[in-house]
Amino acid sequence: EYVNLNELVNYILNRFDMIIEKDDKPDKYYTIKREFTENDVWVELDTDRFTQVIDNLVNNAIKYSPDGSEITVRLLETNNYAILSITDQGLGIPRKDIARIFDRFYRVDKARSRAQGGTGLGLAISKEVVTMLGGRIWVDSVEGKGSTFYISLPFENYEEGDDWDAE
Ligand code: ATP
Ligand code: MG
Repeated sequence: EYVNLNELVNYILNRFDMIIEKDDKPDKYYTIKREFTENDVWVELDTDRFTQVIDNLVNNAIKYSPDGSEITVRLLETNNYAILSITDQGLGIPRKDIARIFDRFYRVDKARSRAQGGTGLGLAISKEVVTMLGGRIWVDSVEGKGSTFYISLPFENYEEGDDWDAE
């Protein structure tokens, strides 16, 4: 589908906000800030699968951050790419682990991760989906300070119009 990313991402984040508001421990509330370009950013993607990617990245940002911290989601565009980023103020990822976190079942600090629950598949699946969409996913992180996960999605390809009857 051809999708307005500003609307889709906002919709996904609103669902997280609704869950936060229902929580009965206000001191644990985390905040999700949005910093979106004013332009509408249109991309071709599979909404369900892309939603799964954003869900996993936001869930990770929450899961690996202290209660009450802030998560910032940014959306911007360059000539060729839409770029979405998710920044947390959490544990961060040690340099030695960065290259491996997109591998299946890889989890930093097994004991800690096991206590948090999960399988270690979220980022591997996310990478598969983003790659399938012709995009890239990467992370910039400082241990003890936080992480920013980036997704780039190409849109130039889809404006050339030679692909339209492929699906
Ligand atoms: P699942 O997503 O399958 O429920 P998971 O969250 O452990 O389990 P991934 O989402 O693939 O698996 O993440 C892999 C590992 O990368 C995590 O176990 C964690 O150690 C690390 N990680 C991922 N996101 C963050 C983050 N925002 N901050 C710190 N560490 C992270
Ligand atoms: Mg995860």
